[in-house]
Amino acid sequence: MKQKRFIAILAVILIIWVSIPRQKTNPYYVESVIDYEAGVSAHYPVTGNEKLDSKMQNFVNQTVEEYKASGQKNTILNISFKCYSSLFTIIRFRVSTDKEQNARGEFTSTHWHKNFFTFSSKPYIPTVSTMSTVDNGTHTEIKKDKKLVALTFDDGPSQHTMSILNTLNEHESHATFCVLGNKVDSYKEAIEIMHASGHEIANHTFDHKKLTALSESAMLEEIAGTQEAVKSITGEYPTFLRPTYGSFNSKVREGASMPLLMWNKDTLDWKSKNVDYIFTQATSNLKDGDIILFHDIYPTTAQAIEKIVPYLVENGYQLVTVSELLEAKGIVPENGKAYFSSRSST
Ligand code: ZN
Repeated sequence: MKQKRFIAILAVILIIWVSIPRQKTNPYYVESVIDYEAGVSAHYPVTGNEKLDSKMQNFVNQTVEEYKASGQKNTILNISFKCYSSLFTIIRFRVSTDKEQNARGEFTSTHWHKNFFTFSSKPYIPTVSTMSTVDNGTHTEIKKDKKLVALTFDDGPSQHTMSILNTLNEHESHATFCVLGNKVDSYKEAIEIMHASGHEIANHTFDHKKLTALSESAMLEEIAGTQEAVKSITGEYPTFLRPTYGSFNSKVREGASMPLLMWNKDTLDWKSKNVDYIFTQATSNLKDGDIILFHDIYPTTAQAIEKIVPYLVENGYQLVTVSELLEAKGIVPENGKAYFSSRSST
């Protein structure tokens, strides 16, 4: 009798033990086995239903092919790059090979979801110890039959920037973000996503001071502070200066040491804070080569962007960064020169 009770207690304990949900020790580890002899075949993943985005898998495969072709052996090929989900979780994926030339990959993100996995194409700030360069793959192919426009966003990043990035990325569109240096650290992830998904980052000064009202050294500090703040995150300096209040003079032109980014189409989004008004301002009489001004600090701007971007894409426009726009029109930006559109500069 005692023995039966003992067995029953043991059985209950066993059932409870089995039914306790357990945290996998390393749930994002992906055992990708890349077989050098049989050609590259990567088996992803083993931890559940997750699947690698095909672009990402292609990138990994291609990189390993290049590594093989380089003839280097017994070295560590260490590629790490970031991609993002539409939940804006930065995901790092790392591939390494050991001396036996087995390669393996692992995710180092804490959150991700297969359905939201929209890898931004190729790597983000790769650290590759055995290869010289890896194209970050964010360069846009300009389509010949499209009218080009550049959307530009001032005064951010803010809590609304992610929504705008999401809309742009969903529609494979690029834009230029003219950021304030004093906001960069608080919205580091937004800056990383801009960079990773091929948007352009421009300098809109550090504290939004009017540059023409400052001494030369104060003006230079305003510009340099943002250059460094962005570079510390992306590894690259912003390309253009967007003068605060659109206000510049010869001192700003000379001091900036970069081209000035103006606009020829103002949505007045800061004034109206009205989605329909912003939509109409942005889309009516729009011409090839236009540069449009928005501010990514208003919820109404983010909502308007949700309508504007698909509308423009469906109506024959390609949304590009300012650098892409000028390059497509054969214009090499000059330091100190102000660009209002691809047709107008001073
Ligand atoms: Zn501004």
